[in-house]
Amino acid sequence: SKIIVALDGFSSCGKSTTAKRVAAQLHYAFVDTGAMYRAVALYFHRNQVDCEDLSAVEKALEEIHINFEFNPDRQASDTYLNGENVEKEIRKMYISDIVSQVSAIPTVRHAMVAQQQKMGKKKGVVMDGRDVGTVVFPEAEVKIFMTADPKIRAQRRKLELMQKGEDLPMEQIVENLRIRDEIDSNRSEGPLRRADDAIDLDTSYKSMDEQVAFVLEQVRR
Ligand code: C5P
Repeated sequence: SKIIVALDGFSSCGKSTTAKRVAAQLHYAFVDTGAMYRAVALYFHRNQVDCEDLSAVEKALEEIHINFEFNPDRQASDTYLNGENVEKEIRKMYISDIVSQVSAIPTVRHAMVAQQQKMGKKKGVVMDGRDVGTVVFPEAEVKIFMTADPKIRAQRRKLELMQKGEDLPMEQIVENLRIRDEIDSNRSEGPLRRADDAIDLDTSYKSMDEQVAFVLEQVRR
């Protein structure tokens, strides 16, 4: 029978790529919860929503509709914000620089978590994020907590951004990861935390094939 697989952990440990491939192998749905927070951050940026202004935040959330659509060219899902394909835009550094402030707002989290719970209702889903195993689906059958050496994470992120056309200094990438991890770990609502019943996966010296195999092994147990 179909289950829920929760993949949580720090930024740039390879969560999304692993989750995507595990989902494909199992014929499960894949949900990138980080993409949802990135889309909210993009909306806030474009509409100059003040994170401190609770009623402005609530009003904005009512106007934000996020969905995913499979893109056959990429063989992956693209993120849509109010009908617009924002997949490329949300991966840029200026969004990485603001997303953790936006995702720390409790109202934002409540709205996203509710939507994520709906998406996983039918089971057969691989979801990656920061709080999937702790808040979104504490009952998930398989929970993986991914970590990796900060230097290796930064190198991977640099390469990824480069492939997307952003050539940024290493120091800037290291700093972005450090700050995000700090904000994500210390917020009041749904902080990044290893679930007590999660299985640890350190990806520092693992190939993507090995990471995928490891997760599949946990599912098939
Ligand atoms: O996974 P990704 O790095 O794209 O996530 C971007 C940001 O979204 C994280 O740094 C975090 O602030 C937020 N996020 C979150 N909860 C999740 C997934 C992502 O707060 N479940």
